[in-house]
Amino acid sequence: MARIAYVNGRYLPMTDASVNVEDRGYQFADGVYEVCEIRKGDLIDETRHLARLEYSLGELRIAMPMGRAALGMVLRQVIRRNRVRNGYVYLQVTRGVAPRDHAFPTRPVRPALVVTVKPLDPAIGAAVAEDGIAVITVPENRWDRVDIKTVGLLPNVLAKQAAREAGAREAWFVDADGFVTEGASTNAWIVTGDGVLVTRPADRGILRGITRAVVMETAAAEGLRVEERAFTVEEAKRAREAFVTAATQLVMPVVRIDEATVGNGKPGSIAATLRARFHDHAEAVPVG
Ligand code: PLP
Repeated sequence: MARIAYVNGRYLPMTDASVNVEDRGYQFADGVYEVCEIRKGDLIDETRHLARLEYSLGELRIAMPMGRAALGMVLRQVIRRNRVRNGYVYLQVTRGVAPRDHAFPTRPVRPALVVTVKPLDPAIGAAVAEDGIAVITVPENRWDRVDIKTVGLLPNVLAKQAAREAGAREAWFVDADGFVTEGASTNAWIVTGDGVLVTRPADRGILRGITRAVVMETAAAEGLRVEERAFTVEEAKRAREAFVTAATQLVMPVVRIDEATVGNGKPGSIAATLRARFHDHAEAVPVG
């Protein structure tokens, strides 16, 4: 159990960690977040996650709460104080606290920063990956700037709940033309009959996943071809393999899409290889 959180300059017991009721993250989802993996005492892909944080904040015209190096120190401090060696660190930045009004506060406010950690035994994810997961498909109903990693996740929450109620672990959003955009908290991939990896281009219609980027490098090192193009649900159902990627899932094989079995219903060898090789290509820096 994680016991210490960082809240606006203070390391607090979880029971005392709270934010102001007029925090704009709470009232308007006016904020962004990142999730990084902690593995064997290393922080994974901090550089890319903090670069994306800066991008998300920039798109919303929210200032970085502190420099990247200082932010990295706070992440490490929270991980250390909770003695987490495997799990995830979550960081959230909102526009700050101001009397409720939709437009930006007219007086300068300091962005609010919260950091928490969650310990998780990697054996749990590994066991799930042995069997693979089921996904359902749901209509895309999010705004057109999902490249910004905002805390406004209501469509994702509802999609994930629909998946759970259908006995699946993920929901894939499908756009009006029948093309898969991405999962509720993952990027979506398929492997074609001739072994080509296909994933949607990272434009504004999906989150530019950090795991997605590292998997591309892993695939290249394994001599696999990657095609960045949209694919339909029908193509995915006929694919040789399918999988999802995210910091919390790494490479997670998909064995069922709605009622259709993918491949032979077992995790595919390409997804297994990418999962096994992933950390050879991710950045790993000791928490210290
Ligand atoms: N797409 C969505 C909607 C997500 O929420 C996430 C992760 O939270 C991802 C993709 C995967 O991103 P990353 O690989 O950076 O974890």
